[in-house]
Amino acid sequence: MATILIHGGAGTIPESDRAAYQAGLRGARDAGFALLADGADALSAALVAVSLMEDNAEAFNAGTGGSPNRDGVVECDAAAVSGWDGSAGAVGAVTRAKNPVLLADRVRRESPHVMLVGAGADMFVADPIDNTLLLTPRTQAAYEAWRQEKGEPTNSATVGAVVCDREGRLAAATSTGGMLGKWPGRVGDAPLVGAGTYADRFVAVSCTGKGEAFIRAVTAKGLAERYRAGDDLQELIAKALAEVLHFNGSGGLICVTSEGRIGFGFNSRNMAYAWKTDSGGERPEAAEVGLEPGVYTL
Ligand code: ASP
Repeated sequence: MATILIHGGAGTIPESDRAAYQAGLRGARDAGFALLADGADALSAALVAVSLMEDNAEAFNAGTGGSPNRDGVVECDAAAVSGWDGSAGAVGAVTRAKNPVLLADRVRRESPHVMLVGAGADMFVADPIDNTLLLTPRTQAAYEAWRQEKGEPTNSATVGAVVCDREGRLAAATSTGGMLGKWPGRVGDAPLVGAGTYADRFVAVSCTGKGEAFIRAVTAKGLAERYRAGDDLQELIAKALAEVLHFNGSGGLICVTSEGRIGFGFNSRNMAYAWKTDSGGERPEAAEVGLEPGVYTL
């Protein structure tokens, strides 16, 4: 039995972008699932799925195509968490990594720390790239429009994966450019273990939406605690989203349990998600832009 569930962010996903999102989700999901089918561990599959979405310049706000900050610089956040041994790695406000999630995993494997940010994270990049290579025509146009309007920072299209492998091991990974127009140095929930990303032996969680609210609600760890206490999956996702709303946040989350159960929900207008499982059931796979906010389990 193996299950992968990924997301491509919560927010408003315009109809014109949906085909690109679905194609990107499908490719990332299938690559991750193929590894699982070959017997790979959950974290390897999560990293492949997330890094493919980071590389996708047509959709998603992570890696290439990450949203620029107030000064037009792409500052990325990412985390990688292994539920079976409790190891975790994260990076915040990194500017020179092509694949921030792989850098986060290197922090996990090769440093004595859990999280590196800013200049220190950039120094840890083995093959640094110029930040402008992360900009795409799509993100440059969005940045110009944001500058003209002088609007509030807005969130969009973070990517994440939660995976249960054949051994029942769990992993979660999340990567994002954060918010368009955010202040330099702002770090969101995605790289904060327990807020936007978390996995233990029972459940793995990846969140997307207004990071400030997910940080205050400590969403991912809160969900895991309730799951461990025996709460119903459907109800505990609803509770997690209610807490995010309490802190004025919209967004969504995905989770998978060690039995391979899938759960996700969002209170934003849309959320992009895809899954594939061989654990049985009526819908072994999907790749969708969700149009109906709510909570879903299977
Ligand atoms: N949660 C991300 C952040 O606040 C943004 C998003 O998911 O859209 O950085």
